[in-house]
Amino acid sequence: MKIRIKEESLFARIAARKLKCNAVAAVFGSTIHLWNVSREDFLKRTPWVVHEIEHVRQFRRYGYIWFSVLYLWESARKGYYNNRFEVEARVAENGVLCLEGVEFV
Ligand SMILES: [Zn+2]
Repeated sequence: MKIRIKEESLFARIAARKLKCNAVAAVFGSTIHLWNVSREDFLKRTPWVVHEIEHVRQFRRYGYIWFSVLYLWESARKGYYNNRFEVEARVAENGVLCLEGVEFV
């Protein structure tokens, strides 16, 4: 699985403002968008990386459009933290941290 990383991304900057977070990683499709964190520092934090990879898997499972709709729908109903896709990503981040088969390009 090839995953792209984009530093200083406008998309992640908007997410950071919305979530009131300093540093943010936000996934769209197979790209992890970063704001206020370098690629190097992000990749050192394995639980965080695994969390974002779970979102890449979710995008693949449902497709771009359907996943975006479901994610926004979940967020509107339950908020960010209780959004089932965030719950799922947190479970992944607390499980066995395996990055096998993942290639960052
Ligand atoms: Zn997340």
